[in-house]
Amino acid sequence: MPELPEVETTCKGVSRILNSKTVTGGIIHERRLRYEVETNLPDKLLGKTLYEIKRRGKYIIMFFDGGSLIIHLGMSGSLRVLSTNTEKRKHDHIELFFGNLILRFHDPRRFGSFTWTDHSPYEHKLLKSLGAEPLEKCFDGAYLYQKTRNRRGHIKSLIMNAKIVVGVGNIYANESLFEAGIHPHRQANRISLKRYSRLAQKIKDVLWESILSGGTTLRDFYDKDGNPGYFKTKLKVYGKEGQPCSACDRPIKHIVTGQRATYYCSHCQR
Ligand SMILES: [Zn+2]
Repeated sequence: MPELPEVETTCKGVSRILNSKTVTGGIIHERRLRYEVETNLPDKLLGKTLYEIKRRGKYIIMFFDGGSLIIHLGMSGSLRVLSTNTEKRKHDHIELFFGNLILRFHDPRRFGSFTWTDHSPYEHKLLKSLGAEPLEKCFDGAYLYQKTRNRRGHIKSLIMNAKIVVGVGNIYANESLFEAGIHPHRQANRISLKRYSRLAQKIKDVLWESILSGGTTLRDFYDKDGNPGYFKTKLKVYGKEGQPCSACDRPIKHIVTGQRATYYCSHCQR
């Protein structure tokens, strides 16, 4: 599943190539995505110039003159910028033309979305109740501490709750809790400010490390030369069941909670 680092990488990649270019056409091959794509989307976009691409949580916002396109990659979506003579593949559902380039949305499982808004995208119902951006300054130990005082539940599910903080997917939650030395099932309202400060910093570090290496799970992002835009980062606990902990050599444990895999070291994480 595309996670925050892949979405960030996609934003940067698409922006570098398509910024300040104008839409010259579009084709919707499949409207039945997570939300039905409006039929007249290509007409709405025709002649509009893309002036900025930003990420909010795992949404990609393409700012055009007169409105914005809010894109989510869902479970299996990807955006590629290609030359117009590149053959269309199965599951390429949406094509937007920018002169001799195409922005293609590919999504075998169709959980992604393409939504147009004439208003501020940040006020759109998809985005307006999203929590803090983990890479921004306002996300810190004090924020997490304050948000968790009156909440029940364990820390792992809370840092994966998009109403508190966006974009901390399962892999990143596992890795940052390991780095911070916090047991994934510790009650969130019983963690000190000092430990939250460490956790907030580790969440930032883990996400940045992944962004700088192009994302961990992305298998389908290619730059315009067709080169894959990802490298696997060094994971310390995720997927490492039974392997020795990098800090204490004891075996990494694996449990499944709420259908999500949790990996941790019972010695290093308390
Ligand atoms: Zn350990």
